[in-house]
Parts: sequence; structure tokens; C-alpha cells
Amino acid sequence: MSALRWHFDNSYARLPEALFSRQRPTPVRAPRLVIFNHALADTLGLEAGTAADGLAPLFAGNMVPDGAMPIAQAYAGHQFGHFTVLGDGRAIALGEHIAPDGRRFDIQLKGSGPTPYSRRGDGRAALGPMLREYVISEAMHALGIATTRSLAVVATGEPVYREETQPGAVLTRVAASHLRVGTFQFAAAHRDIESLRALVTHAIDRHYPACRDTDAPALALLRAVVDRQASLVVDWMRVGFVHGVMNTDNMTISGETIDYGPCAFIDAYDPTTVFSSIDQGGRYAFGRQPRIAQWNLARFAETLLPLIHEDPDKAVERAEPALRAFQDLYEARWLAMMRRKLGLLGEDAGDAALAADLLAGMQAQGADYTNTFRALSRGDLPVEGLRPWHDRWQARRAQGAGAIEASRDLMRQANPVYIPRNHQVEAALDAAVAGGDLQPLHRLLDVLALPYVERAGLAAYTEPNPAEPGAYQTFCGT
Ligand code: AMP
Ligand code: MG
Repeated sequence: MSALRWHFDNSYARLPEALFSRQRPTPVRAPRLVIFNHALADTLGLEAGTAADGLAPLFAGNMVPDGAMPIAQAYAGHQFGHFTVLGDGRAIALGEHIAPDGRRFDIQLKGSGPTPYSRRGDGRAALGPMLREYVISEAMHALGIATTRSLAVVATGEPVYREETQPGAVLTRVAASHLRVGTFQFAAAHRDIESLRALVTHAIDRHYPACRDTDAPALALLRAVVDRQASLVVDWMRVGFVHGVMNTDNMTISGETIDYGPCAFIDAYDPTTVFSSIDQGGRYAFGRQPRIAQWNLARFAETLLPLIHEDPDKAVERAEPALRAFQDLYEARWLAMMRRKLGLLGEDAGDAALAADLLAGMQAQGADYTNTFRALSRGDLPVEGLRPWHDRWQARRAQGAGAIEASRDLMRQANPVYIPRNHQVEAALDAAVAGGDLQPLHRLLDVLALPYVERAGLAAYTEPNPAEPGAYQTFCGT
């Protein structure tokens, strides 16, 4: 039926049966395509010349394409530090699409009806939060940050009941895979060594083929994931992204950002920033993200111990340095990232202090994170209170011939002009959901598609949220 050029394989569904349940999406009443990502469809080689009314039933889950084998994945996870057995309660993977270039992508419908893991949930999603995931994930991609992507959002024509009644929707999520730390925790919790072994092989085949030929693949996998996650969190810190719900089930093995629930970008620089209404203790605050990532990786390491060595003490002995490496990797890459943000060529012993002093100054001044770095990229003084720091910075930067131009180029590539500002995102979602007007959303997506290129007439998209700092709250959208 569909003219899309799907090439499905279902390697996850060939893993041990405990790891998933076969589950078809539950058809919806009146599917209507709200937004479709043509650029991503091109990347996937789908050639979506199909009319919108042809795509809607497909991306609503009303029909399952040839070759797909719909499943819900089992997983567990630490949610705010507490271990729970979970699973895809409202998401169904159609399978893995092989793009023309050979890359393999999970195609998952989120909000596609109940599964054996739904517990008391309805298996559905609301239009606002699904469009929000679409906007933020695509913004992250344009910022050059590893992330799941969004291919389509379809309105279901059915209501979902949350605090208030909202229009239902299904998001098509595209991911390198949906393997999570929690996937391994699920198998480990059941002492299911066969599944663990299969997951390690599967993860290595899909994401880290270089680990295949080592004498300790599970340990090599741990090292690889630690490495990838360290880079990911540095990228989050670079652009002021607060994930908001870094539970172990929301941390991928691939190193992609996943699960855009209560995430948001900071305006004023403050490491204690929390947006999520349910994160009362600030566990997932902006500045805590590296520590939490390492904590999650420790949970990952625990699941791998029996595969690292049959002697538990020896296994711990080997896993510990692999895990501890996170700190050094993170710090070295954070400093390298800050050097790019500050346009510092070469390395100087004072660079870490220079960066730390700027951050402290920004925090004291309540300065906007994105706009401060962008002002510096232009050579401007962002706020008067930073003048002494600015003089120091200029002196450090001026070293060497032609240094200023090279420095500026470096900064323009590291410091976005446009991020998804919370008030802009809310306004665009309101217009789309309450008013049925998609124009503000498309305009916002156009702005965010080129985040490093300053353009005339877009100053409104660089304004910090006019609301009280700390007033903006996000919800999980469940
Ligand atoms: P999240 O906070 O989105 O990572 O979700 C945590 C867990 O709750 C996952 O296992 C989800 O599949 C599940 N879940 C969230 N919303 C729903 C829903 N409406 N129906 C069923 N399960 C849900
Ligand atoms: Mg999740």
C-alpha cells in the first residue's frame, strides 16, 4: 500500500524472547498527518512522494508495512534512583529500516496503544508533547548532537485523558537503536545470562563493531559506551541542554540522546537549573548531568560483570577503571569544548580557570548562557560586570598572528545563536495544538535547522524567556 521504500530487518526480534513481546499497534479512529520530516525521509531513502493522506494511516500504526515485525521491548531501569521493571508501555518498534547507505535505524511508533508493559497506562500520547519531542530532537540534531530523530507526527482523532483532555498523537521515532542501560538491567535482574550475552553481541554488532575482535568484548563495550556518553554529556553542557529525566531506561547504549520528556534549555546560566515538575530534589539538574551519567554507567557496568569475568572480584577489578575513565574523559573533553566556546587556540595552563571564572561571573550576573557566548563570538562585552574577565580573555586570545579570525571561526561553530527557547517552543505548540495553526511551528523549525548561522529578522528567537527565571516548568507528557 504505502509507496515508501521500507527495507525492514528485525534483528532485535531474533534475540531471546524474554527481551520483547510481539505487539501490533492499536489502530486509531481518524489519523491525520500533522508534520512529516522530508529531510529525514530523504536520509532514510524512503522517497516520500506519497500524499499526506497516504502516510497518515502508516504513521498512526493503522497499517503495518511489509517486512516489519512490530514488538514492544522489555527493559528495567532506575527511576530517580529506584529500580523498576518497565518496558515499552506506549511504544512499538516496527523493525529496523536499512537505509540505502547501509545504516540501520529503528523505526518506532510512540503513543501507538497498549502493550504488555503498559501497567496502568493507556499506551497513548498527547499531540503537544509529541510535537515538542519533534522540535527538540530535530533542534539537537541540527546542533550536531547525537540524538534520536523524529520522522512524523500523526494526530489520532482520539482524545487522551491526562489532567485535562488532549488530542492524541503518534510520533515516529528514528533511532540508531533503542538499546538502553535498562535493557541490560532487565536481563541482569532476571539473571538471564543468555540474554545478556545476546545483548552484548547485538550492541557490539550495531554500534561498536571494533569491540568484536577484543578478547573481552563485554569490557570493551563498557569502555565504548563510557566514551560515547562522556562526549554526549559534554555536548549537552555546551548548548545548555537539561535532559530532565536521566533514568537508566532513558540512557542509550548508542550514545544518542533519547526520551524528550521534561527536557529544556537553560536561559540564564545556573548549574542548579531544573525544569521538570517531578524533579523536586534536583537530581537531574543541569550541572549534575555528568555525575548522573557516570552513576548510570555504573549500573550498566554491574549488568556486565558476569560477562567480564567469571570471578566476581576479578570482574569488578576490570570494570572499575573502565568506569572511572569517565571522569577524565569528561573533564578533558569539557575543557576542549570550553576552549572552542571561548575561541582559545592551543592550550594554556590557565584555560580551565578562565572558563570557570566566566561561568561563575555569568551565574552572579544572571547572564544568558547562549547569548553571552554569542556576544563573545562577536568580540562584544556581554555585560558590564564581566569587563575584568573580558580583558583577561582578550589577552589570552590575542596570542599569535591571525589568531583572532581563527578564534572567531572556532567560536561560531561551537556557540549556537538559536536554541529552542522555552517560550518560543510553547507558543509554537500552543498555536499548533489549540489553534490548529502550524505556521509558527514550521517557522521555529526553520530557525532551529541552522542554529549557528545568524540571520536578519530572527532576533525574537534569541530573546531569553521573559518569564521569571525558574518559573518555567516542564511535565513528562505522559
Ligand atoms: P518515560 O518517563 O517516558 O521514560 O516512561 C517511563 C515508562 O512509563 C516507560 O516504560 C513508558 O513506556 C511508560 N509509559 C509512559 N507513559 C505511558 C502511557 N501513557 N501508557 C503506558 N505506559 C507509559
Ligand atoms: Mg523512557
